[in-house]
Amino acid sequence: MLKTIKSFYRRIVPKKIRNFLWNIKRIIKWIINKSIETIILIIIPKKSYRLFLLKKSAKKRLAKRSLLRFDIHLADHCNLKCKSCLHFSPLAPEVFQDITVLERDCKRLAELTGGRVEDICVLGGEPLLHPRITDCLDIARKYFPEDRIYIVTNGILLLKQPEEFWQNCVKNNIGIDISLYPIHLDLEKIKQTAMRHDIKIAFRGRPKVQRRGWSRQTLDLEGKQNAEESHRICELANFCIQLVDGKLYQCETAAFVKYFNKYFHKNLEITEKDYVGIHQEKSLDEILEFLCKPTPFCRYCNTAEVDCVEWEHSKEEISEWV
Ligand code: SF4
Ligand code: SF4
Repeated sequence: MLKTIKSFYRRIVPKKIRNFLWNIKRIIKWIINKSIETIILIIIPKKSYRLFLLKKSAKKRLAKRSLLRFDIHLADHCNLKCKSCLHFSPLAPEVFQDITVLERDCKRLAELTGGRVEDICVLGGEPLLHPRITDCLDIARKYFPEDRIYIVTNGILLLKQPEEFWQNCVKNNIGIDISLYPIHLDLEKIKQTAMRHDIKIAFRGRPKVQRRGWSRQTLDLEGKQNAEESHRICELANFCIQLVDGKLYQCETAAFVKYFNKYFHKNLEITEKDYVGIHQEKSLDEILEFLCKPTPFCRYCNTAEVDCVEWEHSKEEISEWV
């Protein structure tokens, strides 16, 4: 019955009007959801609401992926050094992605996935610091010819990029996402440059909001959290998958905690149960299964306490991460 009504509707209502009505429906839905959220936030604290939403979405978020997605870290360090950076970049020395290792790992992942992934995010630290970024983009595109590949950058170095960089993005169909921070960037000029080269550009976040609501991870130095529970309410799990030197980690926390450990003389232990080696005899199915499950390292994450702090430059103090 419903099917008949739908097909009748499609036949008699012109496409333009259907699109218009569909957009109206979306706007009304958004207004209703926002109003409900505003009322809920008057009644219960934001943190409890966030936890409620995360628990509610856990089953879907943590279901085994049908396609792999992963991040390539071109530089572990960064030219911005934000307080509480989830990648521990303010604590990292100058470390660049090794081109040979990247080629080896992309080749292997392409073998495992048949060259089909959900997307590949090229980031850091600050990826534009890499002196051979165009070679890295060539490699990623060579092994994953069809899928979305995009750079996530703080944008500071974008207008200093040579023409070769822009041409390479065009050639390889690479998009650029700029994470907005409360710093000065000539966004108009960046937009124009990208448009001139016909490159997809997107801006993430709103600087004014970022200043008030910068998200920070909270580490438990004793590792006394319940790993399964931490994982269940973790926004990074099964999504922020990091490719580092032949290994896939479920998140940047596990992949780069080594910099936190070294800088503050701690030992938040990473063992071979916290990552999956891609050059071992493992199938894609086994890898995807691993990536959606809690790991022993999750016991160091007090995800219930993930908090919003005011954005500022890092002072490289341990309190930014614990
Ligand atoms: S710009 Fe990004 S990678 Fe760099 S310090 Fe800030 S949050 Fe970390
Ligand atoms: S270690 Fe586990 S809980 Fe912590 S950020 Fe990674 S996936 Fe989330």
